[in-house]
Amino acid sequence: MKIKAAVVKKKGGAFEMCEVDLADAKEDELLVKVVSSGICHTDEFGRQGGINQRFPAVFGHEGAGIVEKVGSRVKGIKKGDHVAFSYSYCGHCDACREGKPFYCESFNDINFGGTASDGKTRISMNGEDVAMFFGQSSFAQYSIVDQKSVVKVDSDVDLALIAPLGCGIQTGAGTVTNIIKPSIDSTIAIFGMGAVGLSALMAANLEHCKTIIAVGGNEKSLELAKELGATHTINRKNVNSVPDAVREITAKGVDYSIDTSGVGTMIQHAIDSTAFNGSIFVLGSSGVIDSFNVGTDILMNMKTLRGTCEGESISQKYIPELVRMYKEGRFPIDKLVKVYEFDDIEKAFEDSHNGKVIKAVVKIQ
Ligand SMILES: [Zn+2]
Ligand SMILES: [Zn+2]
Repeated sequence: MKIKAAVVKKKGGAFEMCEVDLADAKEDELLVKVVSSGICHTDEFGRQGGINQRFPAVFGHEGAGIVEKVGSRVKGIKKGDHVAFSYSYCGHCDACREGKPFYCESFNDINFGGTASDGKTRISMNGEDVAMFFGQSSFAQYSIVDQKSVVKVDSDVDLALIAPLGCGIQTGAGTVTNIIKPSIDSTIAIFGMGAVGLSALMAANLEHCKTIIAVGGNEKSLELAKELGATHTINRKNVNSVPDAVREITAKGVDYSIDTSGVGTMIQHAIDSTAFNGSIFVLGSSGVIDSFNVGTDILMNMKTLRGTCEGESISQKYIPELVRMYKEGRFPIDKLVKVYEFDDIEKAFEDSHNGKVIKAVVKIQ
């Protein structure tokens, strides 16, 4: 079928609204009418060439929509259901068999390889293959999605709020809920007040952590952090030393630090703000830290520094719970989201990049 999609024709290129051809859904796949799609830093990472990114490409990996058609082997989802899209995985590697699809050994191939799981793309333009992204390419009116990436959600919640749950929000919140599992006397500092950081903060609030410190450079986001449950905020621009400011709040340093900024100096601050035997989680794609010393920063203080993926979320289990908590008023994602028209996708990226908006979502139809 012919659909409209935002195509990026070359590395670093603009989004161009084009008519593309979408293939039929295979037996394990669904055809979904995409209603909304969140914008995540990883889309920009892909547009700038990402991991061996091929072009032309259709990005978008936080899609949400209404099921139009299901393949013959799809179970538990029918036409008309509301769904969110999440990451995809192979289902048969050791990690997948151990129930950890977020650490699927083929994660990068499947999500960044430019094709569906059979190695072929479902999108073409003028007879030429167009690379897919995260097995969904949700910056398009319709998407062919593997059933493993599809999460059925309640139909009474705006799909613009559902869309970002599939990646950024579950990554932030899941790091707290699924990995840290903090006790009520835990102290936690979150670095970077974008959608991932604020989601981690909302989850820490849900877990009743004793001290939740929000670290950022944007006063408006820090105000919002307070509203969402931060017990303390630190504007990195207003203090001489972020770790010192953290230790003024909790003398030992925090039990857990989460970096969502992906900036080397912030990660160093996160390490230095963490208590003896504490843990630091890095969620943003990060550059080089010049000052990092394994001996004094990690080993001598028995700290753990680790990367994680998708907040170790089993999307089909975790996303419906996030939706429930939103409906109960305990996880107010609506405070993060701003909706843009599909044709304004370039502006939505610009505003995201400039920190004008926390979570941009494009309304596709
Ligand atoms: Zn796997
Ligand atoms: Zn993402």
